[in-house]
Amino acid sequence: MSENVSSLLYIVAGVLFIMALRGLSHPTTSRQGNLYGMIGMALAVLTTLIGHPPAGAAAWVIVLLGLAIGGGAGAVIAKRVPMTAMPQLVAAFHSLVGLAAVAVAAGALYAPQAFGIIENGHFHKQSLFEMGLGVAIGAITFTGSVIAFAKLDGRMSGKPIMLPQRHLINALLAAALVVLLALFIGTESKFLFWLIVILSLVLGGLIIIPIGGADMPVVVSMLNSYSGWAAAGIGFTLGNLALIITGALVGSSGAILSYIMCHAMNRSFISVILGGFGGDAAAAAGGGQVETRPVKQGSADDAAYIMKNAERVIIVPGYGMAVAQAQHSLREMADLLKKEGVDVKYAIHPVAGRMPGHMNVLLAEANVPYDEVFELEDINGEFPQADVAFVIGANDVTNPAAKTDKASPIYGMPILDVEKAKTVLFIKRGMGSGYAGVENEVFFRDNTMMLFGDAKKVVDSILKNL
Ligand code: NAP
Repeated sequence: MSENVSSLLYIVAGVLFIMALRGLSHPTTSRQGNLYGMIGMALAVLTTLIGHPPAGAAAWVIVLLGLAIGGGAGAVIAKRVPMTAMPQLVAAFHSLVGLAAVAVAAGALYAPQAFGIIENGHFHKQSLFEMGLGVAIGAITFTGSVIAFAKLDGRMSGKPIMLPQRHLINALLAAALVVLLALFIGTESKFLFWLIVILSLVLGGLIIIPIGGADMPVVVSMLNSYSGWAAAGIGFTLGNLALIITGALVGSSGAILSYIMCHAMNRSFISVILGGFGGDAAAAAGGGQVETRPVKQGSADDAAYIMKNAERVIIVPGYGMAVAQAQHSLREMADLLKKEGVDVKYAIHPVAGRMPGHMNVLLAEANVPYDEVFELEDINGEFPQADVAFVIGANDVTNPAAKTDKASPIYGMPILDVEKAKTVLFIKRGMGSGYAGVENEVFFRDNTMMLFGDAKKVVDSILKNL
């Protein structure tokens, strides 16, 4: 295949990736978007294999084995992983992208003739720059993602680990990396290359350890962005257009997603990029005071009665709905209420659950009509007119402390104003706090009724009572 044809096919793959992103931006088109992405990726892989065929049968076997083992493992993991564990899976996958960037850069350094980046015994300066930068971003992404994975998966405490002078240490490490990069380009030294790898691995870990649990979603999407830039860096080293386009798409969309999430959580984007944000506040969380104030408790029967007689019900799903897999029962409950003439809407907070779009995916899976699902800014004004706010397994995203308590780790995060509804029905198993570890005042309000139990079981018994 000529270079021109493969470039053209890579551009077609790039366009398919852009169409995939576009499709994924709305639930109604997301399946189609996924399909475009899969076709684009298949085209890119085939073009690479045909355009630069592996030399000899043994090389083909290695490539095909790699595809089978990697693809097989990916398929099995993706099939098995519960929705609630998706953020840590994404973090784990990002770590592999980072590691791949390091491996490819090392491959290019040790076999430059295979990559056409050496002439008269000397590397092209530009290739050294791309290699050095790609390997640094890749190594940072690798350790950063491994730590994000360990924190999200509960293998390491989610609490921030604050080193003294951490900003100074990070700044010095970053400055050292710039100097090493310049020296590496000048000397082509393999020792310096590995020193860049080691410093970057350390920096990746240091950037992530001070970040507290409540801020993790932004970290995962930021690492997503880093992994894209690492891939784009390798793309330049390999002279591979598809990789440059894909890497840039992942890098920029990850950065845009991080920005949107920072906005949703009222955090500063720059402080996230530099690492070590939110830690101080999150450290203050989970102080562990045992709450003894009384709450009003109700039964499924009470909830059914209240909602049947309501005109407007707004359902606010959260992480607990995902854990209990209550979305199907919830939709059945909403269907019954609608038959009774109740106006039912769903309010989705941008960081409800454990990853962006978590709630949308679950509701779509349960065939909840898209036109009943509203984003925070579109529905928040409707709570004062609602008879019932039906909060199912959500907590932090309804906590008014975000509006009033400057010391709270979630201060400044926009929240769903459930307490403004006439009655708030709160389904959760007990008085436990949410992800950010803060008490929720709404539990103790006069217009709140707590319905204790597993979200699915409670909704199922409301259904029976309806
Ligand atoms: P949340 O604040 O973590 O609250 C979830 C609540 O669900 C808990 O208080 C828990 O209370 C209850 N629960 C758990 N299992 C349950 C079950 N089986 N049945 C009924 N209730 C159950 O969740 P959220 O309101 O969705 O807020 C999301 C939080 O996660 C935010 O702090 C956000 O920053 C963070 N986060 C979001 C993302 C993202 O991208 N969306 C990613 C990572 C972190 P009990 O224990 O008393 O049952």
